[in-house]
Amino acid sequence: MMVNHWRRNVAAGRSDPPKLLFSANGQSIAMYGTDPDFRAAIGEADLIHADGMSLVLMSRLLFKRPLPERVATTDFFHDVAQEAESSGMSFYLLGAQEDINRAAFEAVGYRYPSLKLAGRRHGYFRPEEEAGVIEEIRSAQPDVVWVALGRPRQEYFCVRNRAHLTGVSWVKTCGGLFDFLAGKATRAPMWMQTAGLEWLYRTALEPRRLAWRYLTTNPYALWRMLLHSRELGITNEQAGQSGRT
Ligand code: UDP
Repeated sequence: MMVNHWRRNVAAGRSDPPKLLFSANGQSIAMYGTDPDFRAAIGEADLIHADGMSLVLMSRLLFKRPLPERVATTDFFHDVAQEAESSGMSFYLLGAQEDINRAAFEAVGYRYPSLKLAGRRHGYFRPEEEAGVIEEIRSAQPDVVWVALGRPRQEYFCVRNRAHLTGVSWVKTCGGLFDFLAGKATRAPMWMQTAGLEWLYRTALEPRRLAWRYLTTNPYALWRMLLHSRELGITNEQAGQSGRT
């Protein structure tokens, strides 16, 4: 479904300025609730997809019109790469440590030999270097820029620079994607993905980095979803009572 949407948009040609495609999980819902700057940045997105299965499961419990599907960025990248191989769209990979960025770039080139790779750059640069980074991307003339700088840095980067990235069609935030592409990180088993537990798998592998993040954001995100469903008055329970299912 998401890829069909993408296909329609790409078929419509380059947009000027580029469209911003963000993703949502428990962490971003929590940040949306606590950080006005992040909320404003999210408001700039042209499209937001649910990156966490737990969001989809919660939406099924709470909302009359639940989210149709989970779109993990780590899966979406491959769907778009296949599209790009046939349509001729080119990619630029921005973000992560230099070795990870390079390994991801090489792995993508190996897996998708017909894909046009316009360029790549690691994601550790100072604010005063940002204009140069944007110039590098612009001169590489990619159709899609994948931005892996971590949240919220990547969302702010996209919003701040959208107007300068003329010629680019889409800018997509992608968090830890390059770690997966480079083979440094592994996906959770399918049953954990389906059960909305991929975050738990990642936390078990990297507890020092991720335990605090998920412990503080997931419960708050859950509370916000509960609150919001009540505010909107569209819980399944209410929908059932009024005969609207
Ligand atoms: N990163 C970066 N520049 C920075 C800070 C982070 O390129 O200044 C990269 C980091 O190396 C990692 C990614 O951003 O590859 C963040 O991944 P994280 O796992 O936090 O994202 P998630 O997938 O959890 O959203």
